[in-house]
Amino acid sequence: MEKVRIKLLFLGHPRHEIDKKKLLGLKSKYFEVVGIESKEKLPEAKKNDGFLDVEYSVKEVSSMVGSPKNNDITFAIMNYRYDDGFYLHRLNPNAVCLSISGVDQLLLNNSISLENFIIKNIYEVVALSFALDSVCSEEAYNIVHVDTRGCLFDMNGDKFDIIYNTESPCICNECKSFINGKNIPEGFVSGLEKELKKIRKPLLSRVETFIKKYPLFSIGLTLFSSFLISVLASLFVEYLKLNVKFTELLTSILVCASNS
Ligand SMILES: [Zn+2]
Repeated sequence: MEKVRIKLLFLGHPRHEIDKKKLLGLKSKYFEVVGIESKEKLPEAKKNDGFLDVEYSVKEVSSMVGSPKNNDITFAIMNYRYDDGFYLHRLNPNAVCLSISGVDQLLLNNSISLENFIIKNIYEVVALSFALDSVCSEEAYNIVHVDTRGCLFDMNGDKFDIIYNTESPCICNECKSFINGKNIPEGFVSGLEKELKKIRKPLLSRVETFIKKYPLFSIGLTLFSSFLISVLASLFVEYLKLNVKFTELLTSILVCASNS
């Protein structure tokens, strides 16, 4: 099985720091990140509606990203909006572009990293390139669904829904049967599901989220843990005392025995 080769391309000046090392080091059975490039100076957006925010059309982004000469897939990431409000567009069979403008604050407010959002979308593109003849195939519309199921293929028409399917997205039964009907490697769906579960917050963030979600339980658990630690500490001290007495007793017996 050949892995999909992904080349990351950052467009424009990043508004947030992104851990590129993490993205470059991604490990997957199905894809590899072969390089990261940046294009900081972008042409001026044609849309001029009097507002100061920058919005690009799909056509403009296509010409900025271009098409790789080999079979790699260019996965571009830009800090500007699309003029149609979507955040991910397939530009040609070998290039897609993800806009993180507008969704960045939504993710950060929900303690979801931009890196995880990028990784989730890389998986979506990789899954499409395995299941379909081309990333650009019209068949993609048969798998993406408008209702939000926490699935890798949720459309997220309402951008707020990305908070439900960025971390550990599932593959819903309908999508599973669609993919399994295609010419895919053996165990593809279960392998993909296993890797998707790894898209999650770091441990400290998960603990923080748990405490925020269950404050009373967390307080109870802290009190119980403190109680348990103090009981164990007392038992340990008693054990040490007994041990000292036992050693003293043993020494006395040995002294008596040697004197007699
Ligand atoms: Zn689905």
